[in-house]
Amino acid sequence: MKSRTRLLKLTSHSLAFLLLLVLFGCPGNGNKTEVNSATPEPAKTRKTDFDGDKAFEYVRKQVEFGVRPPGSPELEKTRAYIIDQLRSFGLNVTTDEFQATTPMGQKKMANIVAELPGSSNDIVIICSHYDTKYVKDFKFVGANDAGSSTGAVMEIARVLAMKKLSLKMTYRFVFFDGEEAFCFDWDQCHNPNPADPSKPLPDNTYGSRHYVSQLVAKNELSRVKALILLDMIGYKELKLGRADLGSAWLQDIIWQTGKEIGYGSQFINATEGVGDDDHSPFLKAGVDAVDLIQLSSYQYWHTKDDTLDKVSAKSLQIVGDTVIASLPRIEERIRSRAR
Ligand SMILES: [Zn+2]
Repeated sequence: MKSRTRLLKLTSHSLAFLLLLVLFGCPGNGNKTEVNSATPEPAKTRKTDFDGDKAFEYVRKQVEFGVRPPGSPELEKTRAYIIDQLRSFGLNVTTDEFQATTPMGQKKMANIVAELPGSSNDIVIICSHYDTKYVKDFKFVGANDAGSSTGAVMEIARVLAMKKLSLKMTYRFVFFDGEEAFCFDWDQCHNPNPADPSKPLPDNTYGSRHYVSQLVAKNELSRVKALILLDMIGYKELKLGRADLGSAWLQDIIWQTGKEIGYGSQFINATEGVGDDDHSPFLKAGVDAVDLIQLSSYQYWHTKDDTLDKVSAKSLQIVGDTVIASLPRIEERIRSRAR
């Protein structure tokens, strides 16, 4: 085990140097990350072009629309807003509408997919759900769940669309509808399965399960080489342990990168007991996937207090920087595995 750790260290040091070149360019190419001493904003500690303030604004706007469960007019407005923003970044955006059978009857849902074509056909998906949990007894505005991750994925999309990073792969930014269960508890209810009545379908992850079925139908599944899911990543006291379900190599790269760029106190060495999330249908289909999620130490989860004051631009910055800085390494790993 010791020698294995050493080998990883050596590799990561050489990768770290490459990463610095990618992030900050060669000497004399100083057009990035300008520091304005008059404004002590997160921009000062920004490690990439990801702008935590912009991401926070995307979160604020979603919360302003109100409660956003699947099929609601509020979610429709949110969807139009997300699509508008993604198009303004120059991305090709499509929506995939579908009917879902839920414990509350048929619901119209829609996934949003923005694509940034690369020189390689291989696909990396960066995603979040954008619905908020339907709650009967109180107003749930989901600032962290899933306003924060939706805002972060939007901002990552904006940065990648600028094409200042030397990435080769095709990127898809996917916003899933219907991640949340309609019954209060995740596993409380099930839905009938016409294909196999003995295996009822879950009352959650409607959008991601639908998306995987579409990838299979279009014969695209084998092109997807990695999936990065964000879910509840904006809490001002951010702590991200490794989710119990996920591909270790993706977790290793992201947590190592987070540490190397100065976010070791947020990307911590602990296991986060999560179980299923939107990455699960992909894992089950054989796609390597990772879930960045703060569940156990987010005390406002699924409460009326999951409000904007719990989210900070700084936390969004930390996650955005780390994901973006990890991408060259993830691509390199995918290429070396293909060789
Ligand atoms: Zn939730």
